[in-house]
Amino acid sequence: MKTPEIIRIVIFLILIIIIAVNFFHIRYLQKKIDNVIVLTYEDSTLIAYSPKSYKEPVILFTPDFIDIFNRYKSPFNDGLSFNELIKQYLKNRWADHYGCPRGTKEKKRIHEGIDFFVPENTQVFPLSNYGIVTEVSDDPHHLVKVGCVRPDGRIDSVKIEYGKIVRILYPEGIESVYAHLNEVYVEAGQEVNGDTKVGLTGLTGNIRNSGKASHLHLELRDKNNKSFDPRNRLRFTQASVKNFIEFLEVNK
Ligand SMILES: [Zn+2]
Repeated sequence: MKTPEIIRIVIFLILIIIIAVNFFHIRYLQKKIDNVIVLTYEDSTLIAYSPKSYKEPVILFTPDFIDIFNRYKSPFNDGLSFNELIKQYLKNRWADHYGCPRGTKEKKRIHEGIDFFVPENTQVFPLSNYGIVTEVSDDPHHLVKVGCVRPDGRIDSVKIEYGKIVRILYPEGIESVYAHLNEVYVEAGQEVNGDTKVGLTGLTGNIRNSGKASHLHLELRDKNNKSFDPRNRLRFTQASVKNFIEFLEVNK
């Protein structure tokens, strides 16, 4: 064989290899693109597009969906409205509410939830018809870090004994925390609906030291883990699709 022929064959083989590698690489990229989903928000409806479905977008969530899954209800499934719950189950209309001063002179903080004085071992359920359990503790002495203020005005944090807790995330992007439970029946990551038995109210955590009776401590937290007054949220049934989309984008 003459040398120029060998060179030609080598070049030919190299070209074949380049074409083959490109072919498989393009197929690999194509598969990746097929899995891309674009979420967008049109006329209060969450829509998903993918390269396969761009002509017929998949409608993920309609306002009806949001309305059904973001409508809040009593954690005791007793059909009471939030205002009725407050009337019926609060003992002290000042001290049991959100925002009431707590802690010590050295570490001032606020009560970050509402205390509902239902009988011990009352069953508790999620606040809406869909949620994901984001945290569970079966430890009766479970500690939660909360913010406090030092005498010199410095912001600090302190660990408070919440006892057995269940934390649930709702489609809107807010979470509820139930504390002082006697029993927890769910696991982190579990999907729940309005009828899922989450646990039983009780006396775990710092209730012992406070001398208080058994109650459900209910807290609401936003996506920055900041607590807020449930009275400012649960009274409203209007849902926010926008918050939900923001939440999905954060968790992509
Ligand atoms: Zn409380």
